[in-house]
Amino acid sequence: MTDLMTIDECLMCGGARSEFVMGGIVRRCADCAFHWTAAGLAPPEELYDESYFEAESYRKYFEFAAQWQFEAARRLRWVLSAAQPTTLVEAGPAGGFFLAAARDHGIAVEGVEVSEAAARYARDRTGVPVRTGTFEEAVFAAPVDAVCAFHVLEHVTDPRRFLQAAHDRLTPHGWLALEVPNIESDTADRAGESWADLSPRFHLWHFGPESLRRLVAEAGFEIVRLDTIFATHYLRPRRQLSRWGLASRWRSLRATGSVRTSHPQRGDYLRVLARRWAPGESS
Ligand SMILES: [Zn+2]
Repeated sequence: MTDLMTIDECLMCGGARSEFVMGGIVRRCADCAFHWTAAGLAPPEELYDESYFEAESYRKYFEFAAQWQFEAARRLRWVLSAAQPTTLVEAGPAGGFFLAAARDHGIAVEGVEVSEAAARYARDRTGVPVRTGTFEEAVFAAPVDAVCAFHVLEHVTDPRRFLQAAHDRLTPHGWLALEVPNIESDTADRAGESWADLSPRFHLWHFGPESLRRLVAEAGFEIVRLDTIFATHYLRPRRQLSRWGLASRWRSLRATGSVRTSHPQRGDYLRVLARRWAPGESS
């Protein structure tokens, strides 16, 4: 067991003043309102061992393959609504469903996954090229047109370093697509410390629309789209009518007063599509 990490200084603004919120699990910067997990974080190499994607839970994960395929298709459609990449790298592809969807669309894909068990499953079950390791340290043969990371940025040791790595691996004007839990969602507000996406053992950083916008812009990207979506956005039509689906739909309706599954700030997940500034351009 290594020493646990405690973070006192705000990653976003360097401020030293923070208050404990969400039952003392999260610290909120008094200067810029950025949130991070208060204490007790094990380093990544201890967290993402075999047990994170152990065989039994992965067997269950693949029982929901149709659900993950639907989610992947929706994410791909969102990326393609702005970008037309011919090459793409995904950090943290888990079972590889998004990579498979992109590959089936004719895009040359590659994944980098910290969990060897997950990388192996992605290769064996979905047939996509996924190597084991961290995205930040991975070396690629050539720059790519798109870097995607869905529910990854909240896990990484240093989000700035991650975004810098994405920037460095992109072609000029290449695309960055991110999705993270939204700590400023209606669901998080109502649930407080019992918010399911708080996941303090694994989530170090907690983003809201403004903090994500700022971090991505400061890393040298132009924000093209930033919005939030409700969990119901990723549910297959048949699961929309399940008890969970109806409860999820009710939460989005209550939060927004509308049946739309996206919202500028209040949805469960925050997503951003951004474009790399070309060398020589000022940001
Ligand atoms: Zn701050």
